[in-house]
Amino acid sequence: MKEGRIVNFNPGPAALPLPVLEEIRESFLNYAGSGMSVTEISHRSSWFDDIIDDAVQRTRRLLGLDDRFHVLFVQGGASMQFCMVPMNLLGSSDAADYVNTGTWSNKAIQEARAMGKTVRVPASSEDRNFSYIPKDIPFSTDAAYCHITSNNTIKGTQWATEPDTGGVPLVADMSSDIMSRPIDIDRYGLIYAGAQKNIGPAGVCMVILRQDLLDRAQDTIPTMLRYDTYVKKNSMYNTPPVFAVYTVQLVLKWLEETVGGLTEMEAINRRKAEHLYALLDESGFYTGTADPDSRSRMNVTFRLPSEDLEKRFVQEAHEQGLGGLKGHRSVGGCRASIYNATDMKGVETLTAFMQEFERQNG
Ligand SMILES: *Cc1c(COP(=O)(O)O)cnc(C)c1O
Repeated sequence: MKEGRIVNFNPGPAALPLPVLEEIRESFLNYAGSGMSVTEISHRSSWFDDIIDDAVQRTRRLLGLDDRFHVLFVQGGASMQFCMVPMNLLGSSDAADYVNTGTWSNKAIQEARAMGKTVRVPASSEDRNFSYIPKDIPFSTDAAYCHITSNNTIKGTQWATEPDTGGVPLVADMSSDIMSRPIDIDRYGLIYAGAQKNIGPAGVCMVILRQDLLDRAQDTIPTMLRYDTYVKKNSMYNTPPVFAVYTVQLVLKWLEETVGGLTEMEAINRRKAEHLYALLDESGFYTGTADPDSRSRMNVTFRLPSEDLEKRFVQEAHEQGLGGLKGHRSVGGCRASIYNATDMKGVETLTAFMQEFERQNG
């Protein structure tokens, strides 16, 4: 570990791979011999063209996207996609299905409804405090699209595989698990992901969109909220978040060239999660909050016997260089976010601390 750097279990913005941060530091004052910082170059320069094109190409290779799909970079975070998706994909006579698996799904539903769109909720896990992913969902065959939150950052649940929507395009908020595993792209119409959990810094949202869905947008949608604006202008209708896109490019390069791709990344993520869940399962002190078959490999949520002990746990962990273990303010408890950039060694440092804490307080 580099001098003074902690093991970062923050939920987002979250840890970035150290080689990426080092490359940013190298290029920060003089990018690629330009004599300027990457934050000083023009977004109309060939330097930035190369950055954004490379980020798009790497996304295509990593996720196995064919020519049907566009890769876009949009500002406003995942939260702005909550309105852009229904605005662009839902006509006035259409309805969409949304599965409610927690806070973020709920916000997506609220936004679509606030715009006067028809939203049906064929399944929800609210009855047991969003601790599981619903099964055998009665999706409507006439839905314009079906929306899911692939990983529930706050509740610590994750879809193990894509649900069968019977050919209706799947729309997924993948903010907290994009690029953590391979996906079956044929099921998807649209994917969006705020970068700040798994692929970069805050300030940019990746949108992957199938060409045939572009035709649905009405003429009344404002320019900046239309997907076709981003398609036509290669995500550069206005000034894009240059530094955020550059960082995403470097993270994707790290994924391809250092990790070796998403199959390799998934294997590493599985080992990390299994190691941590094994400790929760063996312990009478720590209790996992998600159903075992719905557990997230990205956000591991757990409780201790009392809120007092939880507070002390987070505090002592922090003092020992393990940061970001407090649960979301809406649910309490503890959460270890173990995104792509957190390595096995970091997770083992955490479990060693957890065992010692249990020995002293159990
Ligand atoms: C963090 C998060 C969001 C919100 O992202 P912003 O970029 O802050 O708008 C939405 N959905 C999920 C699943 C998230 O984890």
